[in-house]
Amino acid sequence: MTLSTLPAPPVKQSTPLPYIPIATLALALLCSTAAAADPLAPQRADMVKEIATVAAAAGAQSGRHALDPRVMAVMGQVPRHEFVPDPQKVYAYENRPLPIGHGQTISQPYIVALMTDLMMVKPGDTVLEIGTGSGYQAAVLAGLARAVYTIEIIEPLGRQACDRLKRLAYRQVACKVGDGYYGWDEHAPYDAIVVTAAASHVPPPLIRQLKPGGRMVIPVGAQFLTQYLLLVEKSGDGTVSTRQILPVRFVPLVGKH
Ligand code: SAH
Repeated sequence: MTLSTLPAPPVKQSTPLPYIPIATLALALLCSTAAAADPLAPQRADMVKEIATVAAAAGAQSGRHALDPRVMAVMGQVPRHEFVPDPQKVYAYENRPLPIGHGQTISQPYIVALMTDLMMVKPGDTVLEIGTGSGYQAAVLAGLARAVYTIEIIEPLGRQACDRLKRLAYRQVACKVGDGYYGWDEHAPYDAIVVTAAASHVPPPLIRQLKPGGRMVIPVGAQFLTQYLLLVEKSGDGTVSTRQILPVRFVPLVGKH
């Protein structure tokens, strides 16, 4: 009897099966489930890539070559198509502003991401937005802050945005219709303030309502002339400093102020 220590010859397989790690299979399954639940997720992911490209190209000017990954993650989650009128939905994930009615616009996604990045919102923060518009910027902020207060001057737009934010379950957003120039004193001071319409100057009530150590992002300049996105910082001792970030184009901040 001959004992062999050699392994048995391998059984030949006509088509070898590829080796796919379990984790890869699980991820693929998860992605396909997510895609089925949210068919626009891939478009949103492309939009986020485009924002990263534009941020890198504009970095020398804006000082922000790469935006905060938390901001980018939220940009990849908020359903922008829910915030634009039906005829605009096909363009919802393009990197451009879109009309939202009443002569107003939802800002370009890169600008929303940059403004949010500059605000440096932390999870426990209370933030104020002036110019609710569609409610999109408020929804982005809701993914980063504890509480978001937002003010819109055009009543039908403000009401519509508020209903939309409720329907989409952005529970930490509170809205009101009014002139945002004066801020929202009741909930002040704020860790960060964003103004999404161009003012002729930084409204003093908003500076007062900013916490020491807080940041405000605001476009300043006249309509049809050069406007600049400004970062206004209030230091611990209350000193205010201002930095120009980028030339921008926003609808004007209106009102009787
Ligand atoms: N943040 C919005 C885009 C806003 S466009 C979004 O994500 O969709 C600017 C908005 O500012 C417009 O809706 C305009 O009506 C509003 N606005 C202009 N002046 C204002 C004021 N004084 N107070 C509050 N909102 C104002």
